[in-house]
Amino acid sequence: MGCASAPSRPDVFLFTVDTLRADRTSTYGHTRSTTPFLSELAEGSAVFEQCQAPSSWTVPSLASLHTGQHAWTIGMHDAPSLHVDQRLEQVDHPALPESTTTLAERLSAEGYATHAVVSNRHLVKRFGWAQGFDTYRSVGWAPVDEVDPLVQELAESVRGSTQPSFVWIHLFDPHDPYFAVPGTPWLTEGDHAASPGTPGELVGAEPEAVERALRLYDGEIRDADSWLRRASEVLGVGDDDVVLFASDHGEAFGERGHFGHRRALYQESIRVPCVLRAPSVTARREPAPVGLRDMHQSLLAAAGVDVSGLGRDVRREVAPVPVFSQLVRGSHTSWAVRDGNQKQIRTAAGEQRFDLAADPGERTALAPNAALSSALDALIRSDPPAEGERVLGPKTAELEALGYVDPAPKPSAP
Ligand SMILES: [Zn+2]
Repeated sequence: MGCASAPSRPDVFLFTVDTLRADRTSTYGHTRSTTPFLSELAEGSAVFEQCQAPSSWTVPSLASLHTGQHAWTIGMHDAPSLHVDQRLEQVDHPALPESTTTLAERLSAEGYATHAVVSNRHLVKRFGWAQGFDTYRSVGWAPVDEVDPLVQELAESVRGSTQPSFVWIHLFDPHDPYFAVPGTPWLTEGDHAASPGTPGELVGAEPEAVERALRLYDGEIRDADSWLRRASEVLGVGDDDVVLFASDHGEAFGERGHFGHRRALYQESIRVPCVLRAPSVTARREPAPVGLRDMHQSLLAAAGVDVSGLGRDVRREVAPVPVFSQLVRGSHTSWAVRDGNQKQIRTAAGEQRFDLAADPGERTALAPNAALSSALDALIRSDPPAEGERVLGPKTAELEALGYVDPAPKPSAP
């Protein structure tokens, strides 16, 4: 591939799977065989054992990956929760600022054909995510069955292209509700018969209900993994290509009484699988903590595109440096810093430190460490949260008055 006047470039594939916590993948040690495809990919790859997501939900995490910047410095740290029946034209939502330069924009500038198929309502064009993409298909919150035909279609143009391609696929499942996927070996008959589970239903539920939710969740992970195997074959992913597999955040299943995500910054919510493969990447299990943000620079470097100051290039062994995460919930902002095995979380209630080597489940809070507190202070001082750009925002009512947007549908009379 590539034209005669330029050195040939590898195709670049970015596969992100929503809500996938690292320890439920067999690649990261889960006893159920949830991710055989990822494990095969991991064989010749850098497997980041301790990849910290920038936040515990989609928007900040993926904004950071795509721009190489901290989500809070580009105003992508807070957004309303969305609902299925909501019209996105009516939502006051932050948009990925035009002033940022995304992976797709950088690769497009290097002659790449750029394509995305994404399943998550937060990732629609309207919210700025299509910057730099030649084609951008977003399918709301859809199962892989709805993503599949779009990827089949895309595969034809990728395989027939004389340009190198950048392809981003974001799968929504295993996000809740947790469904019983037919053919999952560890499901019981009862699992198939019951209705899908949601995190809300699990609060205060019996341990067996949580176990069932985990069986369903694991089944959805297995389904996403096997779909990605097929998609990789169809897209013609080869050994010389650049492949990054990652998740945006994890999911809590009763730790500290939490269920779901976007609640806190403990490891069940922010430790994600992250596997990078390319000819220039040293295959290894990397123990040093890294951030999803580091993958911005690393992915580009693996494609021969140099950027600096946007995370780190972690294609080869790296020394530990502090890695940060942030979560905004209403008026409360939490921060976390991870340095080696030490992790410190700052909330309105104060600071807690955990020694993740001795206590990976963060059960015993230790006294805060002054150096980690200073690292957080320095980060917040040097890289303060910004407002960012918003779609609609306070002008919604004015636009409605002018007839540019339809007013919100009124509930029908009883
Ligand atoms: Zn997500």
